[in-house]
Amino acid sequence: MKAIVYDFTIPKYITAKALGKHFPSLYYGKPSALSLRDVEEPELPNDNWVKIKPILSGVCGSDMGAIFYKTSPSLTPFNSFPSVLGHEVVGLVTEVGGDVRKVEVGQRITIDPYINCEVRGRKTLCPACRQGMHSLCRYKAGSAKLGPGMILGFCKDLPGGWGESLVIHESMAIPISDTVSDKVAAMSEPLSVGLHAVLRQPPKNGEHVLVIGGGMIAYSVIAAIRLLEIDCHITQLSLLSYQKEMGLKLGVNEGLISREDLGALDRSMP
Ligand SMILES: [Zn+2]
Ligand SMILES: [Zn+2]
Repeated sequence: MKAIVYDFTIPKYITAKALGKHFPSLYYGKPSALSLRDVEEPELPNDNWVKIKPILSGVCGSDMGAIFYKTSPSLTPFNSFPSVLGHEVVGLVTEVGGDVRKVEVGQRITIDPYINCEVRGRKTLCPACRQGMHSLCRYKAGSAKLGPGMILGFCKDLPGGWGESLVIHESMAIPISDTVSDKVAAMSEPLSVGLHAVLRQPPKNGEHVLVIGGGMIAYSVIAAIRLLEIDCHITQLSLLSYQKEMGLKLGVNEGLISREDLGALDRSMP
C-alpha cells in the first residue's frame, strides 16, 4: 500500500536545524524525514483487532512539530520510526477479527489513538490504565509486542492514517452516527482534548475565561465550553486576525491580537 512515512534521524535533524531556513526542502522535500512510499499492508495481529481504510486523516500540531523538527529528539524514547503518521482519523471498517463485537465491516468510525496496555496485549494493566487514564499508560516506551509509541502514527509497528490501511485494537474504535460528516468526525480527537480539559475544571456561568493561543486546541477548548452551554465570558488572546475571526465564529466574546488590544483590556480591568 502507499503511505506517507516519517523517518526521524539525528543527522537529518541537525542538517535541517542548521540549514532549514535557507533550504525548506530539508523539512518536506527529498532530503527530509517525510516520503511517500510503498509499505506492507498491516495484518490483524489477533481476533480483537480491526482493519480500517481511512477516509480523512487530519494534520495535528504534533505532526507539524515532527516534520519541522520542533519536537525535541529527547522525546524519541516514546516514539519509534519509521512510522506512518496520522492519528486524527475517520475511516471505514474493512475487516474484523473473530472476537470483535464493537464494530462491523462497512461501519464508519473514528479512533482513540492511544496505545495503552490493552492495545499492547498486556494481561496486567499498569496503574494508569487500571484507573482508566490510559493516555498516561506507563508503557509508552515499548512493551514485548509493540515498540515505543504513545499514539498511533508515532509507533513503527502501528501505521497511522496517512496510509491506505491501518489496524487498531477494537477498544480504539469509536463508531460514528450518520448525522456527523467526515470532516467533523476527523476532528473528534482534537475536540476531545479541549473537551477533556474543560470537563476537568469547568468554568461556572458568569465567570471570565481567558484562552491563550490560536491553534487547534485553543479552538477545541472554546468549542467545548460553548457545546456544554456554559454561559461564561470568553476572551481569546492570539496573534493573527484570522485566528481572532475563527475564535469569534466559535463563540468567543472578545478577541485580542495586538499589544494595543491587550493594553485596552488591562486598563478596563478593575
Ligand atoms: Zn494530535
Ligand atoms: Zn498502561
